[in-house]
Amino acid sequence: MAARSLLLIRGGRVVNDDSSLEADVLVEDGVVRAVGRHVLPPGDSPAELRVLDAAGKLVLPGGIDTHTHMQFPFMGSRSVDDFHLGTKAALAGGTTMIMDFAIPHKGHSLIEAFDTWRSWADPKVCCDYSLHVAVTWWSDQVKEEMKILTQDKGVNSFKMFMAYKDVYMVRDVELYEAFSRCKEIGAIAQVHAENGDLIAEGAKKMLALGITGPEGHELCRPEAVEAEATLRAITIASAVNCPLYVVHVMSKSAAKVVADARRDGTGYACGRNTKDGDLGKGHSGDLTTTGSDNCTFNSCQKALGKDDFTKIPNGVNGVEDRMSIIWEKGVHSGKMDENRFVAVTSTNAAKIFNLYPRKGRIAVGSDADIVIWDPKATRTISAKTHHQAVNFNIFEGMVCHGVPLVTISRGKVVYEAGVFSVSAGDGKFIPRKPFAEYIYKRIKQRDQITSIESSDSPSLGKLSSIRTSENLDVHEVKSEKRMLLFPSQLNAVSPWRSKPYFNSLRSF
Ligand SMILES: [Zn+2]
Repeated sequence: MAARSLLLIRGGRVVNDDSSLEADVLVEDGVVRAVGRHVLPPGDSPAELRVLDAAGKLVLPGGIDTHTHMQFPFMGSRSVDDFHLGTKAALAGGTTMIMDFAIPHKGHSLIEAFDTWRSWADPKVCCDYSLHVAVTWWSDQVKEEMKILTQDKGVNSFKMFMAYKDVYMVRDVELYEAFSRCKEIGAIAQVHAENGDLIAEGAKKMLALGITGPEGHELCRPEAVEAEATLRAITIASAVNCPLYVVHVMSKSAAKVVADARRDGTGYACGRNTKDGDLGKGHSGDLTTTGSDNCTFNSCQKALGKDDFTKIPNGVNGVEDRMSIIWEKGVHSGKMDENRFVAVTSTNAAKIFNLYPRKGRIAVGSDADIVIWDPKATRTISAKTHHQAVNFNIFEGMVCHGVPLVTISRGKVVYEAGVFSVSAGDGKFIPRKPFAEYIYKRIKQRDQITSIESSDSPSLGKLSSIRTSENLDVHEVKSEKRMLLFPSQLNAVSPWRSKPYFNSLRSF
């Protein structure tokens, strides 16, 4: 039997998404056993106990990066941060769990893709991880495999691309099918929302004009291609009443579409990308989670597109610097407090993807994935000192407050003062169950409302039985439901704005 491992984090300020308190944290065999003052009586120090002094520091739940692509074969290349170096870099930055994507080619099996990614990750990961699976085409096989992945393989999230035409892009009807299936099996649908047809046409136009450099990439993506696709995805998800997570919302107009939908409670989450650098100019309350979209290619790989920007492998770093950048841009600049920081870097992700409270919280029984964080220290980001495989850093030279001093993963100190004590394969695959209560509670509620409504006029018998018990509610619901049903009343920009009923279902 392995020796008992005991760790005491003494004298820090324990920060969760809803409260902070001065407390010690006792960790035994990978799990938090106690949180409170003086959790071990003085003198009671077993030989195997290791004590970490956290006085004047914050003790945070380890970060969860909802969006990475380690060793991803993409655009004729493969991202250089593999599951080993990528997860080590994550730990150095205070992130103790990543969520990566298994992405099958069109016509290929989702389960095979999942197994392939597991075979890459399992022997290499240094922190815990989970997998989203992409739906890049549609068939009965895909539909069946989604169910198997959810029931037997620990997957509760599927991603659909509205861009990458002819490679991963799916059409509206396929989105509708995939969203419907997600809802049946209790998964959350994710979309990469950009109008892939418009981007493809825009790219052709740029090349025809002789614009071959990287600026062409930006120029063929006006804000509207993201805002349009975002609204389209929300419209389709709303028709199905399926929970939707919009990944990497980059432009202000797309962020507004999501914010409007969420304000009216339609159950949408927004994953913000750390590299847009700007946490919403006063809108940080709209931010749900933060993923880095870490997908790194060295400068020589980027050179594949030196004469044609459409051949530049897309993606940059972020897994190591995500937490510090959010601290700097969010907390240090006064846009969010320490609790909201924990919410957007860890807790919300754990809730949405059904890992909570095992992950995303420091509480008795939770996994001991913990960071001792120095809010006052600063560090300068540089490719010379980062732990990633990639040979440049898009945040080069940026000075960040908020430095992870010690990272604890599965109850073990894995990173401390710049030194790692972790081996490939120490992290584990974390399966996730379907029907996350945090999102499906509201989905079910809306379904109930809809079914009461649809059993309305044709069946007077049914209606009267509802009315005797819940007369007022039914009336209220009915008037709102009509607004949903009559397209003429829908506002072109945000059909959800004028439904006060949904305001009561305020969402994340
Ligand atoms: Zn991505």
